[in-house]
Amino acid sequence: MQTYTGQGIVEFFGTFKSDYECLQYLADRKWNPENGGFICSKCGHNKFTIRQKNLALDCSSCHHVESPTARTMFHRVRFGLQKAFYIVHSMSCKSRGMSATQMAAELKISRPTAWLFMHKVRSSMASRASTKAQGKVQVKALAYGWKEDFRPKRSHSPKRKKIVSSIEINENRQIVQCHFKHIENYSAKELGKIFKSHISPEAFVVTEKWTGFKPLESDYKIEQKTGNFKNFMQTNYVVHHLKTWFRSTYTWVHPHHMQGYFDEFSFKINRSSSKENIFDSLILRMISAKPLLYRDIRIST
Ligand SMILES: [Zn+2]
Repeated sequence: MQTYTGQGIVEFFGTFKSDYECLQYLADRKWNPENGGFICSKCGHNKFTIRQKNLALDCSSCHHVESPTARTMFHRVRFGLQKAFYIVHSMSCKSRGMSATQMAAELKISRPTAWLFMHKVRSSMASRASTKAQGKVQVKALAYGWKEDFRPKRSHSPKRKKIVSSIEINENRQIVQCHFKHIENYSAKELGKIFKSHISPEAFVVTEKWTGFKPLESDYKIEQKTGNFKNFMQTNYVVHHLKTWFRSTYTWVHPHHMQGYFDEFSFKINRSSSKENIFDSLILRMISAKPLLYRDIRIST
């Protein structure tokens, strides 16, 4: 099957008419010769026969049978692959977010089923450290509180959760990529986490004046500026969007899951210039990710 580049719902149902087309898409992507093709997970052999009914591959050497969904995030999806694909499509292509309650009602599945699968999608949206910002970057310490009220400044109130953001901008002052990280406090150790995962030592970083950023100056090119609006215009713009997105979609988010929602928001912002590939790239990530189980996602109490 061709790489799916559609955005709208008509194209989606035109391509993925049933669970079978979704299975076919997964099989094509998973065993694409460009990605290394089929290699038996049991014996390493690369010859196979295809079982037409479920598109599983039967290893010609040891006869281990592997389905297109095995060892992917689609493993044991019991509510149908077409519905699962629809969730991936909605979360990647729709500009507005959807809550698990809305998704459950739309697909006639239970809310916990929708909630769990949506978290699997989010975990695949988490950015990989391979694409570190190289250019100009704004880093700011933020806070949010009750009703997901995000503020583009620090707060030491125990009622407010702490976040650090990094926003890369190009020469035309447009946003290239953004990331958010939940942190325990505003110490250099915690603030340094976003540098480590998302910022190259070559990048030119602007932070607000704060002692927590000082120790990081030995490893990164940091310029401290006053936290006024002009110096962090793009950060303020993104935080405003984040706030609107949360408020229009979710009534409440457990702090334990907040990082997943940040990853979803950033994934979409960071791919807004290459929208035609967004669905396919997310499917590829879900194929290469290790399957997540309910016990990995739920909050241990
Ligand atoms: Zn084998």
